[in-house]
Amino acid sequence: MTTIKFKKLNIEAYKPGKSSIKKLKKIVKLSANESALGVSPRVKKVISNKNLNLFRYPDGKSKKLRNQISKKFRCDKEKIICGAGSDEVIQMLCQLFLKPKDEAIVPQFSFLMYRIYSKIVGAKVVYAKEKNFKVSPSEILKKVTKKTKIVFLANPNNPTGTYLTKLELIELRKKLRSNILLVVDDAYAEYMKNIDYRSGLDLFRNKENVFILRTFSKIYGLSSLRIGWGYGSRRVIDALNIIKPPFNVNGVAQKAAIESLKDNKFISRSIKHNIFYATKLKNFLNNYGISSNKVSANFLLLNFTKCKFKAKYFYKNLKIKGIILRSTEDGYKIKNMLRLSIGSKKENLRFMKVTESIFRK
Ligand SMILES: *Cc1c(COP(=O)(O)O)cnc(C)c1O
Repeated sequence: MTTIKFKKLNIEAYKPGKSSIKKLKKIVKLSANESALGVSPRVKKVISNKNLNLFRYPDGKSKKLRNQISKKFRCDKEKIICGAGSDEVIQMLCQLFLKPKDEAIVPQFSFLMYRIYSKIVGAKVVYAKEKNFKVSPSEILKKVTKKTKIVFLANPNNPTGTYLTKLELIELRKKLRSNILLVVDDAYAEYMKNIDYRSGLDLFRNKENVFILRTFSKIYGLSSLRIGWGYGSRRVIDALNIIKPPFNVNGVAQKAAIESLKDNKFISRSIKHNIFYATKLKNFLNNYGISSNKVSANFLLLNFTKCKFKAKYFYKNLKIKGIILRSTEDGYKIKNMLRLSIGSKKENLRFMKVTESIFRK
């Protein structure tokens, strides 16, 4: 045969939360955990500046941004690496740590990019069962073998919304073999006001075998600009910098991210908004037999076991009215549930109104 050949990919491609509906112009997108309050006004001002010098290559080291991050989070700028979304940092980690036949452990229902990037580099993905849709440290530890190189963990977890407490997370790291990298994805850390929670960065900033992921896609409202960062030991960061594409983070994203970190007013407004509406929506849905996780990040995992409607029926009827939730069936493989992102006031009220009308039928 003379046809070209490439690697066999036994991988299900990532399907993002739906963002449009045929024939409908106005939609309410509650499917991707994006910022409910949009972009900070201070960021808008910075990126509408006419002198952005788009013809210049960006700073490949994201130096100013790393400075700002280290100031805000009181951490070492030399231990930060920026990426085109935390996505790209996950990809670089897999390239650095995983050879074919190595093993990466991920919780059963976890962020899909961990398994996708692990598989691309030929590693074996090992799934650790969850208990009641919560990550189980004991199940993770059971899955460790000689070939285990990485354990990926989002805390709080997406799409389940549950989280390991500070003590559970510390215990897990202690019990994990010290030559396994524990990746703690703090994507939703800023939203978390639960008293038994601590972010990965707070707990493990000086630990050699822990790597922290952070993103500007969620509370900072910059999903479209693709920017996030990782925090690890000097040794790991130096190696990642060799792998990193030279100009991976664009200049506009770097400027926007710096400004977004400074806008404390916007961040605290986002946190307040989220707790208020997550609580309101949780209680509201409970009246219809739809239960959900304890309020944590900017989304709820809705459970339809005790509801008179199936998740699929609810999803379809919302969609007819232009409201999109995240199906948890494809990819995550969770049946009869839906993930709901907390939206703006207007979006949440619209969602509640349409829900009432669906249940009136
Ligand atoms: C949304 C999300 C991210 C963010 O990914 P980006 O590539 O930074 O947009 C990372 N991890 C988890 C668990 C998420 O839910």
